[in-house]
Amino acid sequence: MKACVLRTPEKVETNPLEYSDVETPEPREGELLVRVHACGVCRTDLHVIEGELPPRKSPVIPGHQVVGSVEKLGKGAERFGVGERVGIAWLHKTDGTCEYCRSGAENLCDAPEFTGYTVNGGFAEYVVAPENFVYAIPEGYPDEQAAPLLCAGIIGFRSLRLSEIKPGGRLGFYGFGAAAHVAIQVARHWNVEVYASTRDARHQKLAMELGAAWAGGTFDEPPKKLDAAIVFAPAGEIVPAALKALKKGGVLVLGGIHMSPIPSFPYDLLYQERMIRSVANNTRRDGEDFLRVAAEIPIRTRVEVFPLRDANRAVNALKNDAIPGAAVLRVAE
Ligand SMILES: [Zn+2]
Ligand SMILES: [Zn+2]
Repeated sequence: MKACVLRTPEKVETNPLEYSDVETPEPREGELLVRVHACGVCRTDLHVIEGELPPRKSPVIPGHQVVGSVEKLGKGAERFGVGERVGIAWLHKTDGTCEYCRSGAENLCDAPEFTGYTVNGGFAEYVVAPENFVYAIPEGYPDEQAAPLLCAGIIGFRSLRLSEIKPGGRLGFYGFGAAAHVAIQVARHWNVEVYASTRDARHQKLAMELGAAWAGGTFDEPPKKLDAAIVFAPAGEIVPAALKALKKGGVLVLGGIHMSPIPSFPYDLLYQERMIRSVANNTRRDGEDFLRVAAEIPIRTRVEVFPLRDANRAVNALKNDAIPGAAVLRVAE
């Protein structure tokens, strides 16, 4: 099969993904072989490719927002039929036995596997995944539209949940890429006012088109104090600015898997019971709940589509903030 393979983490400007022929994987017991139709490109892929996440498998095929169809069933697999459309997300599998898995927090599992990081992902024509960690894709979504729901969408949704924002509340978004452009649609559906802070004028424009009450620069103070805010951009220097925008008791959620160091800041910014918390991965329940909500609303994603062989171009565009919405690789019809 064709795949975009990462041999050594490098800056994306050096085009480190090699479009090459590799062996098609075989599904093992309880796994599915999925023929990839489309795979979203996420900032986490960028962190894997550039080595900001320490390498766990080498070489590795990145990509963890796969929409495809079941090609072949491993022994004992029975949840989906051959030909059925499915989605594969970041959480490839958990051990199911650690204290976190047993207490319903499988996103914090002690021994997780991650798609496109510790196991091969979807920048390829085929990928395998355990059927129990595969999602049904709601009908009516074109493949490319559905792909960004699987990480940008699910993580944005978990971030919204952790922000404890209520209907009628005011919510800040810092950074307005793929995750934010999906999360704002959920927030608006919940009747939440969104204030978008982002350095890129195109992203500010997209935020306003999607119903933001205000959009401004990353360090511009929003015109009203916020009940909660989510930082999607991986830049630690945003944290003090975002805290400053919060009301007393406000919650600041850090939505990324990687962030540059957070500078020190006066205790006043945190005092009055403001809270900072990170988001790590998601549970399958988050994914299933989100996909149901996404279909109800229905969420419309803005995507820029690249052919699989141009994955380097896609990750460079993502790094340069050149994509309003989400980048998606089209792999097959
Ligand atoms: Zn576990
Ligand atoms: Zn992701």
